[in-house]
Amino acid sequence: MSTKQKSRWADDEEDAVLEAQRKKEKEEKKRAKAEKQRRADEAAALRAAELQGEAAAVADSSNNNTELSSRPAKRRRISPEIEGVKVELPPAKLLRFPSPEWKKCRSVEDYEKLNDIEEGAYGWVSRAKDSRTGNVVALKRLKMDNANDGIPVTGLREIQTLMDCEHPNIVALQEVVVGEDTSKIENIFLVLDFLEHDLKTLLEDMSEPFLTSEIKTLLHQLTSGVSYLHQNWILHRDLKTSNLLLNNRGVLKIADFGMARYFGDPPPKMTQLVVTLWYRAPELLLGAERYGTPVDMWSIGCIFGELLTKEPLLQGKNEVDELSKIFELCGIPTEETWPGFKRLPNARSLRLPQNPVSQGSVLRAKFPFLTKAGSQLLIDLLALNPGKRPSAQEVLEHAFFREEPRMKSAEMFPTFPSKAGQEKRRRRGTPNAPMRGNVPEIKATDFSGIFAGREDEEKGGGFSLKLI
Ligand code: ADP
Repeated sequence: MSTKQKSRWADDEEDAVLEAQRKKEKEEKKRAKAEKQRRADEAAALRAAELQGEAAAVADSSNNNTELSSRPAKRRRISPEIEGVKVELPPAKLLRFPSPEWKKCRSVEDYEKLNDIEEGAYGWVSRAKDSRTGNVVALKRLKMDNANDGIPVTGLREIQTLMDCEHPNIVALQEVVVGEDTSKIENIFLVLDFLEHDLKTLLEDMSEPFLTSEIKTLLHQLTSGVSYLHQNWILHRDLKTSNLLLNNRGVLKIADFGMARYFGDPPPKMTQLVVTLWYRAPELLLGAERYGTPVDMWSIGCIFGELLTKEPLLQGKNEVDELSKIFELCGIPTEETWPGFKRLPNARSLRLPQNPVSQGSVLRAKFPFLTKAGSQLLIDLLALNPGKRPSAQEVLEHAFFREEPRMKSAEMFPTFPSKAGQEKRRRRGTPNAPMRGNVPEIKATDFSGIFAGREDEEKGGGFSLKLI
């Protein structure tokens, strides 16, 4: 018979009493905890009911959100009491944010078309009268691209940049209106201040160029507008005489923001397919992906030259021809005058003459009637090295504007018969701005074929230029 051997750890009576006491304490603790939880739940339920009542009251008083009153309070208050003491919270208030005021676009039908001003390759502008006010405006239909996938980025940028601008030398966008069939994107129109002339048409129709005092007025106004754009981080990227409007009070306004965009510092990578060929800066032609305000300053230089002679300054037939015309007029870039230009994508395969003509001498010879300050301004604006071109602000302060003859005041500016009020404006073979995604990228290799055929011609121009 085996007797159960007593363990060394066997409970004795004292152990049993201790064990019973521990159990009792544990149960008491459990009960207390449960009671605390029950009271907390009760208080939470009470608070939730209060909140619901408050929400209903707010909804009733504002009388514009009936939905709220039936909605339970979403948030459960977790600690309505601290250590058993009920805390009085301030009554909950609903935060109200003002909703943006959406204004429906007016209909294009509110405007009575008077006549077409321009129906270009991919643009359409007409003169129209606001039937409500009788004001005459220019209606410009938003340009389409080939993508067919919504409002083209050029249109969005044109609206965005123009809406952000407010300057006497920038055309004012009054509003955007839509056609009957709003599903059609081509039924979006910009309503712009109407101006009687554009400089291109005016120059074509004038028998004599503008006087120096008038050129100064125009150049100063153009540069004021561009300075405002640059200060507001906007590049226009298509400055040319047909995009400069002039009213009968001698005020010039920059128009056509289809190529404009915001830029930053340092400038982001951007497409080189910008600016109409005759006004395109050499860094763009050489394929620079990062460029900035100097591209607009180059165009201003081209416009300055055009105002002086009535003829576009650099009428290249294609990119290579444009580049060679630039080099003929403005000199050949060297590592000294334009450090690092050889690293630009299209410059790597560029072979240039060993003894280049000095920058400025050809320009001076072409404009002998310009004063020293005037020709220096032109030479500076047409500096091959973008870093050497003056900023718009610097141009505004240039000695050229301070010497005689002084700028003609806008009120004294001559008036011209408006073509825009009559028939469509004519265009004589001016190239258009490049179209997004439509113009093939120009690779250095593409130059070689075209240029090989032009080599002899170029030699006749006083230097030999070769792209291999
Ligand atoms: P696109 O982007 O199609 O080239 P633009 O904005 O350059 O369109 O306008 C084309 C032409 O229409 C201009 O050269 C000018 O003759 C005329 N135009 C544009 N805007 C106005 C305006 N606000 N007032 C008068 N004519 C304008």
